[in-house]
Amino acid sequence: MLEKARKILQKYYGYRDFRPGQADIIQSLLTGQDTVAIMPTGAGKSLCFQLPALLLPGITIVISPLISLMKDQVDMLESLGIPATFINSSLTANEVNERIESAKLGRYKLLYVAPERLESEAFQFLMKTLDISLLAIDEAHCISQWGHDFRPSYRAVGPFVARLAKRPVVGAFTATATEKVKQDMIELLVLRKPAIYFTGFDRPNLLFTVMRGENKQDFVLHYLAAHKNESGIIYASTRKEVDHLYTLLHKKGYVVGKYHAGLSDEERRKNQEVFIRDDMNIMVATNAFGMGIDKSDVRYVIHYNMPKNMESYYQEAGRAGRDGEPSECILLFGAQDVLLQKFLIEQTVGDSERKANEFGKLQAMVDYCHTPNCLRQYILAYFGEKMANAECGNCSNCQDDAELTDITIDAQKVFSCVLRMKERYGVNLIADVLKGSKNKKVLQQNFDELTVYGILRSDSLQDIRDLINRLIATGYLALTESEYPIVQITDSATHVLRGDTKVWQKTPKRPQKVTADNSLFELLRTLRKKIADEGKVPPYVVFADSTLKEMCESLPLDRQALRLIKGVGETKLERYGDDFLQVLQQYAAENPSVPAAKTEAKVPAVPIEPSDTIPSHIVTLNMYQSGLSLKKIAMERQLKELTVQDHLMRCSLEGYDIDWTPLIPAQYEALILQKINELGAEKLRPLKEALPDEIDYAAIKATICKYQNTLGRK
Ligand code: ADP
Ligand code: ZN
Repeated sequence: MLEKARKILQKYYGYRDFRPGQADIIQSLLTGQDTVAIMPTGAGKSLCFQLPALLLPGITIVISPLISLMKDQVDMLESLGIPATFINSSLTANEVNERIESAKLGRYKLLYVAPERLESEAFQFLMKTLDISLLAIDEAHCISQWGHDFRPSYRAVGPFVARLAKRPVVGAFTATATEKVKQDMIELLVLRKPAIYFTGFDRPNLLFTVMRGENKQDFVLHYLAAHKNESGIIYASTRKEVDHLYTLLHKKGYVVGKYHAGLSDEERRKNQEVFIRDDMNIMVATNAFGMGIDKSDVRYVIHYNMPKNMESYYQEAGRAGRDGEPSECILLFGAQDVLLQKFLIEQTVGDSERKANEFGKLQAMVDYCHTPNCLRQYILAYFGEKMANAECGNCSNCQDDAELTDITIDAQKVFSCVLRMKERYGVNLIADVLKGSKNKKVLQQNFDELTVYGILRSDSLQDIRDLINRLIATGYLALTESEYPIVQITDSATHVLRGDTKVWQKTPKRPQKVTADNSLFELLRTLRKKIADEGKVPPYVVFADSTLKEMCESLPLDRQALRLIKGVGETKLERYGDDFLQVLQQYAAENPSVPAAKTEAKVPAVPIEPSDTIPSHIVTLNMYQSGLSLKKIAMERQLKELTVQDHLMRCSLEGYDIDWTPLIPAQYEALILQKINELGAEKLRPLKEALPDEIDYAAIKATICKYQNTLGRK
């Protein structure tokens, strides 16, 4: 059975392999076993019930909480050539009847239904006439009041199953793994000795970043300028903040939308739709936005404010990168955020036990913002999981090679100013005094007579405010919990004033503008958008970003080669293949220097099957062997230089003979080798740090590869 499932995976979906957990879960359902699948957002839950649906006789009923989600999934299935439909309140009674009649005739393999529908006697009666093999419950945590989106109507599922003539296999799918929710799912859905699969919470393609005390507005503007054509969500805590940010971005010319509870249902629906259809790529929103957003190509989620706990954060941030492509989750921490969240807990939670619980969770969130260690490890540990290594290499703490600067003197100036002003004022007035401003409030209080007046005169007012905020965010200063928060000194600052310790600060990294030429990608996107609009579906239903990117990388020029791209199944090949090939062929004709993946291998240097496409790393190898530098290859192929290095390493591991000499500076070869022997070759960063600056990662990797057979044999 699993072999058949794999074939369908390749034929319909165009995917090469299962993702972790998928094969087991599919196998379990196919053998008739009730199954609970707990997988993080984006891990690929839908496929786990769609494939069994195709392989089992009769029909699969999918319980799904949101109308928009159902429509999306049905669109997606139809685009793959899989017969599916939905029944919900957006249809007339006639339409519902028609669909049920068609279902009876066996026209659909999947039928999506809202849970409310199960309570209707008429519907239950009709369902008895269908041959239901599998009942899949999506977002099954909605059944539990301990979950984050309790939906009482999910409680109708258990009784519904009990009343069916023949009991189908039941599969429950969720991303929530707390023990209470799990127990509720098993009990309330009346599952029979379910097999439980938990794939772990890690989302390796997400790059986590925390910025403390950053000028948030500046950061966002820089970031957006560097990520112009990408889709992203910016979450802010309050409607006011959303409105403010929206207006700012709108004025700057961005095509941006907003979403919060203060807008009408119609406005919200419209804004969400426009975002999903790629007609606007930035969404500024409160946490009201996102449930049921299946958009798979969200490339970044920026939190303009810290959310109330790690559960919310991971869920919201997790909306990035569902397609598995590298994506960013950035949290901009400001000390004011903590005050707001505390205030909200005070205001909204009555029960004292729950209040203490909420405060505890908030503290864990604050700790995330301050940990100097791996962020991914922190997240996973929070959810009760252990990471294999201490560092992930893909979070701002693991990657941070920003320069540390000694800012003790400036910090001391700020601290003494706070003291001289008797710890009774807020950030802005302190900054005014340090700047030497003549504003009324400063003069009224005679602050211009203080010795600290104007001691940071040469800095801009904004820079001074940023500095103070950073000192607050890093715990040297504290803010009082009041309507107008007052800045106060902490013990750490006292030590600095005494000269006992120094203040080091990372120079905040500014996002770099991406200058890669994305012209082919843009051409493909434009075509995708056109096809999507014609078919009235979101663009990612046509092809995911990852599929377009792979087309850019391997430039398929005929059907055979196009079929090998991840995400191109038979139906899509049939429907869109020619349109995409036309764009790809034209691009190849206009850019003859870019190596294409034709089905006839054209590079004799490397032995490959003539009927095969050339894998990306081999294309790199060919170019390298023809004498091009890594930089040149990266430029020509529109890849990162790091990727090019990795391609060569991969070739080397696969046994290709590679001349490493051009990459290893001769005078350093012995030294690099010595360090590798001392420190091991598992981690590159310690090696880089132990070696002179001018030795780059490429040289280190090259040395490792060159000596791979002698290393580790000591
Ligand atoms: P979830 O419901 O778990 O959040 P989805 O089912 O929406 O995740 O899947 C997320 C994305 O991953 C979709 O774009 C889906 O097509 C893709 N996907 C799922 N399984 C695979 C696979 N085996 N190979 C490649 N992509 C996959
Ligand atoms: Zn990390």
